[in-house]
Amino acid sequence: MSQTLEQQLSALKERLIEVNDLRSAGAVLSWDQSTHMPRGGAEARARQRATLSRIAHQKATDAELGHLLDWIGARSADLSEIDAALVRVARRDFEKANKVPADFVARASACHAQSYAAWSRARADDDFGAVADHLRANIDITHAYATYFAPFENIADPLIDAADEGMTVRQVQALFREIRPALVASVKVITELPPLDASCLKKAVSESDQLAFGLDVADRVGYDLERGRLDKTLHPFCTRFSAGDVRITTRFREDDVTDAFFSTVHETGHALYEQGVARELDGTPLGRGTSSGVHESQARLWENIVGRSRGFWSYWYPELQKRFPAAFGDTSLDAFYGVINRVERSLIRTDADEVTYNLHIMMRFDLEIDMLEGRLDVADLPEAWRAKMVEDIGVEPTDDRDGCLQDVHWYSGYMAGRFQSYTIGNVLAAQLYNAALRERPGIPSEIAHGDFDGLREWLRREVHMHGRALPPNAVIEKATGEALHAAPYLAYLRGKFSELYGLDLAE
Ligand code: ZN
Repeated sequence: MSQTLEQQLSALKERLIEVNDLRSAGAVLSWDQSTHMPRGGAEARARQRATLSRIAHQKATDAELGHLLDWIGARSADLSEIDAALVRVARRDFEKANKVPADFVARASACHAQSYAAWSRARADDDFGAVADHLRANIDITHAYATYFAPFENIADPLIDAADEGMTVRQVQALFREIRPALVASVKVITELPPLDASCLKKAVSESDQLAFGLDVADRVGYDLERGRLDKTLHPFCTRFSAGDVRITTRFREDDVTDAFFSTVHETGHALYEQGVARELDGTPLGRGTSSGVHESQARLWENIVGRSRGFWSYWYPELQKRFPAAFGDTSLDAFYGVINRVERSLIRTDADEVTYNLHIMMRFDLEIDMLEGRLDVADLPEAWRAKMVEDIGVEPTDDRDGCLQDVHWYSGYMAGRFQSYTIGNVLAAQLYNAALRERPGIPSEIAHGDFDGLREWLRREVHMHGRALPPNAVIEKATGEALHAAPYLAYLRGKFSELYGLDLAE
């Protein structure tokens, strides 16, 4: 590599790391706001975060950065593989950031902040009418945003591509079509059986004991506590400040130990991904997970495929009973395994089981596309929501609070591009787990002995370490030898729930 190319590359990295530092500082402020900040800090904190994000945006869209990318891009044949990936990703970020004018970004975030505040009140009051105009404004602002990325086939394509690079509405719909009939049929068959009694979960366990148990499991699974910590919050999340500091949060219900536990395991899956990204990518645009869907696959693999498996609990349940004898001493492993996997016709997405969960996602996706394409008027959303719930899940919310006001997504950001990642994550989790088993068939028995190293290291090597150096489709194909597809996920659900309910769920 010529000396000038080397100099220009290090000038590029310096600029990119500066943008990353500003964004990481913003992430610290945001983490603090969601965990420890007293209420009185809210107003100044909003301003501080806006200031940091404005400076970061200025630096990320600086013309000088564009010149560096052009200059180096013209010599990409001389770059190492990793530097070529850096330039590819930095160019994608730069172009995305530059297509949208700064004053539009400011207007959109003001619109979303107002809409979020209105949604919080509307949800508390169960008053959809109070937030309907904000939703209309958000549809307009989402249209305007997407238009900066024209041409596209579907108005939501640019938003989906921002979260799940390489995916489009058409591809997401094809994936959904592949899984919907089997899920609807399974829900129908399973819920005709008498419901499992979940009262054995409704035992009081103190917050500190719940926290300690979740953290011990996270630690055993491989979450490095020298480079992480767990705090309490309202809506659990994982956040990365650097390779040396990846934090998770969880929430608590005094009378249901599984709520905090599975939130902790879910966020641990996200954190293992971030902690597993190769150190040398840290601080650059390559130094984090490659897409929302791949990220979600890591969370759901640990939460559901591992964390809700019989093998996992054959190891951990005796420990749970030992720690909380009053709560679980009288409940058998079989009964516990059954209730943590029980399938119900439920109203709330975040409480949904593995069989119904994706049906909640698909109806949201359909509704947002219908609204964006003008087929569904905002005024008719509550009714359309109820109709879809009845059709797919077989239960109807009696109010909008448990209906179209339950999720924050449509009210706090652009109207599309978020829900699909959850289902992509579920589907991909099964595909990755299968690929890991092909190479290391002993993984289930390792898990049943409390040993998670084999699975975690396989994921680290195949998925985590690449960060954004590989785009999502390349990660999937490299790790599994196939493109994203639903068959392994459907087979996983069929196997698990046929056995659990003593049924033969059809293909
Ligand atoms: Zn997640």
